[in-house]
Amino acid sequence: MKSERRKFFVFSHKKRTFAPIMSTIIYSSPIFGPVHSRRLGISLGINLLPADGKVCTFDCLYCECGFNHDHRPSLPMPKREEVAQKLEETLQRMQAEGQLPDVLTFAGNGEPTCHPHFAEIIDDTIALRNKYCPKAKVCVLSNSTMIHRSEVHDALLRVDDNILKLDTIDPLYINKVDRPTGHYDVQQIIERMKAFHGHLIIQTMFMRGNACSHPLPEGGESVDNTGEEFVGPWLEAVKAIKPQQVMVYTIDRETPAQGLEKASREQLDAIRDRVIAAGIPCTASY
Ligand code: SF4
Repeated sequence: MKSERRKFFVFSHKKRTFAPIMSTIIYSSPIFGPVHSRRLGISLGINLLPADGKVCTFDCLYCECGFNHDHRPSLPMPKREEVAQKLEETLQRMQAEGQLPDVLTFAGNGEPTCHPHFAEIIDDTIALRNKYCPKAKVCVLSNSTMIHRSEVHDALLRVDDNILKLDTIDPLYINKVDRPTGHYDVQQIIERMKAFHGHLIIQTMFMRGNACSHPLPEGGESVDNTGEEFVGPWLEAVKAIKPQQVMVYTIDRETPAQGLEKASREQLDAIRDRVIAAGIPCTASY
């Protein structure tokens, strides 16, 4: 159940040679962990994507799984029955060891709502949670691109923590940093987020730096979304969506693109305080 860290190489036009890019993580499937965290407690990961690669409707410059085209999977997504069976086996083992999870987290090698049976798997997971660890939360980390599908929307209403990505409302920035692989209209995403009527947590990555996208152009472009031209409109959208909570964070692990820099603690605290001042609970992770 261990995740795998890999190192890849890209061509550097400046040095005229191949240079190592940051190592990335490909998670086991369908279950990984558990991971112990001070904030979440014991978190058991559920990865609905293939075990040997990444499937995502975004291709973020900061993705810890790496760029999509470097990790094309050859294996299929796990079947619904396999997810339920492996989850039950893991929960039985954890129960026998006296260490049941505090949270069951849908994350891993890409976008969990891409799985064609996401909604049914959510129901299976809730049933197993109720059977083995009724106090544990079911949490989904999603990039929001599938919330227009009614079955995905309804399934996310049934989980405890529906954590949805909204890094900015600037379409140019989204195309540069989150890099949707298909049609993406941020205003439609905002409207779909409003339709959860508060049953969502918005997660936003803030960062600085001049990133080299892939393949590396000479120079690089600014990926700084900590300025008022980004934060102000984002905050207005957050207020309109009325989430139960906002989580702002910054780069924590190695990233596939070079040149990304962490937002400062002071910047994140200032953004957090503006969200709280708007009456919405907010946490900052550094
Ligand atoms: S949405 Fe998440 S999984 Fe997909 S590319 Fe971005 S960081 Fe990676």
